[in-house]
Amino acid sequence: MPAAKAMQTEASSTPLKTPYFMIHEDKLLRNLEICKQLKDLSGVKLVLALKCFSTWGTFNTISKYLDGTTSSGPYEVQLGHETFPGETHAYSVGYSEDDVIAVRDIADKIIFNSVSQLERMQPLLNAASSVGLRINPEVSYAGQDLADPARAYSRLGVKKSGLTAETVAKLDGLMFHMNCENKDFVAYNKILATISEQFSAHLDQVSWVSLGGGLFFTYPGYPVAELALALKAFAEKHQVQLYLEPGEAVITDTTDLVVSVLDIVENDKKTVIVDSATEAHRLDTLIYNEPASFAEATENGQHPYIIGSCSCLAGDIFGEANFPQPLQVGDRLTIKDSAGYTMVKLNWFNGLKMPSIYYKRVGSGGVDGERVEGKIESLNQFNYQDFKATLGQD
Ligand SMILES: *Cc1c(COP(=O)(O)O)cnc(C)c1O
Repeated sequence: MPAAKAMQTEASSTPLKTPYFMIHEDKLLRNLEICKQLKDLSGVKLVLALKCFSTWGTFNTISKYLDGTTSSGPYEVQLGHETFPGETHAYSVGYSEDDVIAVRDIADKIIFNSVSQLERMQPLLNAASSVGLRINPEVSYAGQDLADPARAYSRLGVKKSGLTAETVAKLDGLMFHMNCENKDFVAYNKILATISEQFSAHLDQVSWVSLGGGLFFTYPGYPVAELALALKAFAEKHQVQLYLEPGEAVITDTTDLVVSVLDIVENDKKTVIVDSATEAHRLDTLIYNEPASFAEATENGQHPYIIGSCSCLAGDIFGEANFPQPLQVGDRLTIKDSAGYTMVKLNWFNGLKMPSIYYKRVGSGGVDGERVEGKIESLNQFNYQDFKATLGQD
C-alpha cells in the first residue's frame, strides 16, 4: 500500500483532473454479490483472471468474495500472491525455465498449455505442486475470431486427440477456457455437456477442473441459479472441485473513464477531441472495433458528435453519439464500462498523460446509522518520470 493515500470527497471544490478512471465500489459489490450467489448455489470456486483486471488497490473488496486469482504470465502470479489472499493459479501459454522457477513456490496450481511444456517443466516443480493442463475442447463461444480459443490452428490447449491416459496420470487438474462474453446460458450448457461427454474418462481421473472465464453471469437477467445447478451436476458427476476464472464478469460496468473536451473540429461531421486516446487508454475499443458508450449521450439527442482521441492515429476514435445539447470545450464526458482489459493495457503512446486511477468507496454507516458519503481514494497518479522510466534510466 502507498504510504499516504490521498483522500478526497466528491463534493471537494476542485474537480479531479482528467483524464481519470473512477472505479465504483458499489457497482463492484453488485457484481460480487452475484459471484457469491453462484458460489453458494454451486460449490464452485472463483478465481479472478488478473489479465482482465489487476488494479490491486481494489482487492480488499474483491478478495472478500472470491477464492483467489489466476494469471497469464509470471508477474501476474507474483501480484496475485502478494495482493490477493487465497489461491494463486499460474497458467501460461509458454513458460521459460526461469518462469517456472519463479512461480513454483508461490503458485497453488500450475497449469501448462501443452504436453511438451508439461513434460519439460514438471521435473522442475516441487513434489507438492498441483499440476494442470489446458485442454482445447474444440467447441467455443466467442463473438470474434481473434478471441476464439478454438479457432483454426489454435495454439491454446491440447485437443482430445493429443491427450492420453498416460499424460492425464501426471495431472491433478484440467483447465478449459472456451468462452468470451457468453451471455447465453443455453449455449453454455451445450458446451458443458459436450465437455462432460467427450472428456469423461479423463475428468474422472483428476481432482479439480477449471472451466475458465468468459461467462457473463453478472449480465442483467442471466439465469445464475440455472448455471449453478449445471455446474454442481458436472462437479458431482465427475467428482471434481470446479473452478471458474471470471475476469470481465467481476468488473463489468464498474468503472468510468472521465475525459475533457479539448477542441471541436468539423469535417462533414463534428468531432470533439478529448484528452485521452483509445490506443493508449482503452485499447480494446480499437482492437475489437467496439465503440464506447457515453453517460451523457442520449439516443434522441439532437447534437451528434464523433468522440475523437487526441492521439495522432487517424482512426483513433472512441465512438459516435448524440447529445441533448451542443458540447463545448471544457465539458466532461464519461466513457462507461472502462475497467476490463483496459487499465491492464495502458501504454504511453504519443507521450499522452496517463489517466489517474480513483476508487470511490461505498459510504459507511455513521453515527445513528446516518450514511457517510463515500470517499474517493487515489490509487495512482502518473507523471512524466513514469513515462521516461519505461524507456530508459536516468
Ligand atoms: C481471458 C481468460 C480468462 C478470463 O476471461 P473473461 O472473459 O475476462 O472472463 C480466464 N481464463 C483464461 C485461461 C483466460 O485466458
